[in-house]
This record gives sequence, C-alpha cells and structure tokens, in this order.
Amino acid sequence: VRQQWQQMVDKPSVTADGSKYKIAANIGSSVDISSAMENGADGVGLFRTEFLYMKSDHLPTEDEQFNAYRKAVEQLKGKRLVVRTLDIGGDKPLRFMPLPKEMNPFLGYRAIRIALDRPEMFRTQLRALLRASEFGKISIMFPMITTLEELQAAKKIYYEEQQKLAVDHPEIGKDIRLGIMIEVPLAALNAERLAAEVDFFSIGTNDLIQYCFAADRGNDSVSYLYQPLNPTFLKLIKHIIDSGHAHNTTVEMCGEMAGDRYSLPLLIGMGLDVYSMSASSILRTRSMMRQLDRKKCQELYQEAITTCDSMPAVKNLVQHWLVEN
Ligand code: PEP
Ligand code: MG
Repeated sequence: VRQQWQQMVDKPSVTADGSKYKIAANIGSSVDISSAMENGADGVGLFRTEFLYMKSDHLPTEDEQFNAYRKAVEQLKGKRLVVRTLDIGGDKPLRFMPLPKEMNPFLGYRAIRIALDRPEMFRTQLRALLRASEFGKISIMFPMITTLEELQAAKKIYYEEQQKLAVDHPEIGKDIRLGIMIEVPLAALNAERLAAEVDFFSIGTNDLIQYCFAADRGNDSVSYLYQPLNPTFLKLIKHIIDSGHAHNTTVEMCGEMAGDRYSLPLLIGMGLDVYSMSASSILRTRSMMRQLDRKKCQELYQEAITTCDSMPAVKNLVQHWLVEN
C-alpha cells in the first residue's frame, strides 16, 4: 500500500470526477517542510508559530522571526504557506513570559486574546510576516477568534503595520491573504458575517469539537465525546462552509478531522476546499480522494444527516458506503 501511496507524490489532489482540492501539511517549524514536500504537500495549511516562541528563552525578535518565516516560505518554492499568529496560553506555556495560572486555561487567556492585550508582541510578528511575504506566497490567520470585534481589532493592527512598512515598500503585503481559524462555536455560528471580513477560513476541529462538546481535548475520561462524525457537528461544519462560500471565502480545515478517512467523503460532500494535516497522512488522503466522486459524496452527506442520529450511526454508514464505492 505504501508503494501505491508513493505514486501519489506528484499527482494533483482531485476527485475521480475532476473536482480540484488542495492537500496541505501542518507544521511546527521550518524543519518540517522537507517532510511535507517529500509527502507531496500542495503547501502548508497551518504553521503553528508558537513553537518558535516556546523553544526560545526570550521573546523572538522581529529579525529572528523574519528569518524563520522567510526560510519556510522559500523552501516551499512557490507553494502557499499559511501562518497562524501566536496561539500561546491554554496548554502552551512560554519560558520568558510566565502567564497567570488559570482554573480553566482553555477558556482563558490565550491566542488572539493575548495578542490583542499585548499588541507589541503581535505587531512584531505581523511585521516579520509582512517582510517575509516578499519571498513567497504567505497567508496569515488569527487563532481563537470569537467575536467580530476581535477580528476587526486584529485587522486594524495588521493594516497599521502594513501601512508603516509600505512607506519604504509600497507593494508590501499586497499578495497576503488574511484568514481566521474557526474553532470557537460562536464564530462558527457567526460564520456568515465573519466571512465578509476575510479571504479564508480554516476550521480548527480539535478546538471546535472540544468547545462544542464541552470536553477537554486532552482528557481521556471524556474522550468518547471527541466526535467529528456526530451529525449535529457535521451540520455545523456545513454551515461554516456554506457561509464562507456565500462570500467567496475559501474554506479550509487544519484540525485532525481533515486527515480522517471516514470524514473525507463527508467533507468533500460538504464542499470543503483545502485539507491540511500531518505530512504522514497526505498521500493516503490523496490516494483516497482520487477514487471519490463528488456528487456521490454530496448524497452521502445528505443521507448521513437525514438518517443518522449519532456518531456510530454515521461511521457505520460511511464504512458500508466505502466498501460499495
Ligand atoms: C485546532 O484547534 O483544530 C487546530 C488545528 O489548532 P491546534 O490543534 O494547534 O489548537
Ligand atoms: Mg486550535
């Protein structure tokens, strides 16, 4: 099977009927890019920049970050790099900036909440990214956006930094696409309004599931509530995708669900555009994608949400469908 997958390295990410998609890699540092490329990634759909901060004993400077982003995007040779601005807090501590101990870190001071509270750190990262965008195709996305006001505040800061740099480099940032993670239920519900503000969404199912089911993603005692195939959850994903498309906003997914074999036909049926996953899942996913028919996937999704009441029921339906198709 491995050998069969290996043949997929240079093949396009299309379904059997010729519908085009992108299968990208999730990475934690530029070191991971060679493995992403070896596995035939169509780009990087999630660069988790917090590791840059977590492994450092000081706040990474603008130049240190610029070098890291430039190196990453150059290695991609024209393919797209989606960089997520820092997503610290929660389960991700920093050595140089102790954060207050919290009763519920996943519901606390993290990600865009910290960025907007300490804008200097955020501005430094945005400047580094703007500068690196002169060396390749960069997209920027904000994590943990909950409200429209947060998104507007983050965009305002971004455009301020762009304007400052544009004094000397008038074209800077012109090709950057701006997006947000959809990983908080309120943002998912408000996707239609948020879509008008951004070029793309990236659905973070790891957190979105955790918050929808009110079940800590790292707690084994409640892991039975990790249910990407729950029909109610599937309808929420469909709502996000439809809302994005209503505004010409590309809809991507970078949570674990994007690389899950039972989810794939459903996600294709729902119209998801970009699938970002660990490098090791790319060839398997592409191989499977190339055997699927989009129209049949749409029918499968409809059947799942009209006839199934639970995750096991959906899984059973997809399992049988895969055998027959
Ligand atoms: C997610 O929440 O689905 C996601 C991709 O981000 P992380 O796993 O880094 O929180
Ligand atoms: Mg997340």
